Amino acid sequence: MEPIPASGPEGATGAIIRLFAVTKAYGKENALSGISLSILPGELVFFTGPSGAGKSTLLRLLYRAEEASSGQILVMNRNISRVPRNRLWEIRRRIGVVFQDFSLIPTRTVFDNVALPLFAAGRDREFIRKKVSVLLRNAGLEKRAKSYPQSLSGGEQQRVAVARAICTDPDIILADEPTASLDPEAAGQVMEAILSQHRKGATVLIATHDRRLYEGLDARVEHLTRGSIQETEQNPSQEARPFPDR
Ligand code: ADP
Repeated sequence: MEPIPASGPEGATGAIIRLFAVTKAYGKENALSGISLSILPGELVFFTGPSGAGKSTLLRLLYRAEEASSGQILVMNRNISRVPRNRLWEIRRRIGVVFQDFSLIPTRTVFDNVALPLFAAGRDREFIRKKVSVLLRNAGLEKRAKSYPQSLSGGEQQRVAVARAICTDPDIILADEPTASLDPEAAGQVMEAILSQHRKGATVLIATHDRRLYEGLDARVEHLTRGSIQETEQNPSQEARPFPDR
């Protein structure tokens, strides 16, 4: 496959994520049909739409948890379908992922759950101890470091998951219905934790069916229906920021 030119079908340059006519089929059904879009560094983008619209699938394609059936996906200027499997970590370490079901390891403490990506990245113990302490303090969880996930509320568990997702200071954060099972107060705290990363310069993509998550925010909202983008709402005050130098 030929390299994708710097200026693609949308004429955009400097994008951190770009999709060109991306389709994902499961059997005969298309979960996504011909999606093209560009996301600039530092953007906050919500993908919304009814259940089954393709929101999760779209996020999963971006860190290659799934492979596109056709089309091309550039993440940080790499055509991710061409990245060898044993080098996927180079992209994934720059992406933090938050799932609906928290995905914490039940047999590990809160501290260990947050520290996992840092261990995987080969950071030394002292660095990890300091970094995780700061993250847990910021999340209001400093007293929970030695607890196990089951003993935490849903909101606390999701804040642990967010701390884990951001511990490597990723350039991109993908959150799939991050507040789905939470009460409004816990949902607000989890959203605040994610949005604080956006304010620090991270590019943040959030899939949700809940419009309350983006109402009143400076954000772009992509409305998906049956695997296609039906409408794009762009808050005019939203400005792309320079690619964070991290
Ligand atoms: P959303 O996140 O908007 O609820 P999904 O991306 O989960 O939507 O699903 C989009 C469509 O793809 C749905 O019709 C769903 O049933 C289908 N789908 C998603 N994942 C799979 C899978 N692993 N196998 C088969 N079909 C799937």
